[in-house]
Amino acid sequence: MKVEFDPRLVEEAVHLLARADPDRWRTYRRRIDPLYEHPNREAAMTAALLDFFRRWGPAQWCEEAFSPVAGVESALVARSKRPGDEGADLFVGEHRTVIMRLAAERFLDQANLRICLHHELRHVLDMLDPAFGYEPDLGVHGRTRPETELVRGRYSVLWNLAIDHVETAPVSRETRQHQMDRAFAALDANQRARLAERFADPALRTHANLVAAAREPWTFLGEPRRVGPVPGQPCPLCGFPTHDWADDPPVDAIRPDFPDWEPAAGACGQCADIYRAASASGP
Ligand SMILES: [Zn+2]
Ligand SMILES: [Zn+2]
Repeated sequence: MKVEFDPRLVEEAVHLLARADPDRWRTYRRRIDPLYEHPNREAAMTAALLDFFRRWGPAQWCEEAFSPVAGVESALVARSKRPGDEGADLFVGEHRTVIMRLAAERFLDQANLRICLHHELRHVLDMLDPAFGYEPDLGVHGRTRPETELVRGRYSVLWNLAIDHVETAPVSRETRQHQMDRAFAALDANQRARLAERFADPALRTHANLVAAAREPWTFLGEPRRVGPVPGQPCPLCGFPTHDWADDPPVDAIRPDFPDWEPAAGACGQCADIYRAASASGP
C-alpha cells in the first residue's frame, strides 16, 4: 500500500520532534535555516521536512501499522483539525483509500501512536471484512435527528468497546465506561454491563449486531423495554437530555414539525411549552 503524508502534518510533527530534543533541534536548524534563501523555497522546505519525518521514524511507524491492511491501494495520513476529529475513514471509489487523521502531537509518543493507529486500522479492517458486513446505513430512516444521533453515538461506543477486546484500548477503562454510561443512559448499570459483555466475543463484532444493540438494546438483550421516557435521556425534539418530561405534550402542534414523532416517545417540558405557546398564538 502506498502511504502518503499531508505536508502540513509533516511540518508540525517534525517541528515538535525537533523542539523536544536539543540534538535534533541543532540538526533541524542547520538544514532548515538556509532554505529561507533558497530560490525554490517551498519545494525545498517540503522535501527537507519529509526527509526528517522519515529519518526520525514517524513515516516508518505509520507504514508498519498500515502494512497488514490488505485490499486498500493507498493511504493518506492527514492532520486532524480538532482533538475529537482524529480517526480513520475508508473511501471506496475507483480504488480504496484510507484517510487517517492524526494530531501532530501523536508523533511525540511512539507507543501511544502505535496503539491509536492499530485501533483505527481495526475499524478499517472490519469495514473490509465481509463477515463484519459493514454498511454506512444504520437503518435510522424516519427517526428524528436527535434519535439518529443517539443511535450513531451508541454504535460508535459499542464498536470501540468491541475493538478493545482485540487491540490495546486507546482510552482508559474509566473513559470507556463513562462513554457507555452516557450513550446507554436509558439502561440500568446491570443491563449496560451485560450489553458490554456481549461484545467480549470478537465473533459477535458485526455491523448487524452493533446496529441492533444501538437501536433496540432491550430487544438485543432479550428484555422488555421500559415504557415511557426515561429521566436523563435526550428529548426526541430538541435532543437535550431531560429529567422534566411533559405529562401531556401538544401532539397537534408538534406533528407538523416532526411527522414521525409518537407521543409515547415523549417531549421535554420546554419543548411542550414552546409548542403549546406556538399553537395558542397560531393562525
Ligand atoms: Zn474507534
Ligand atoms: Zn425538548
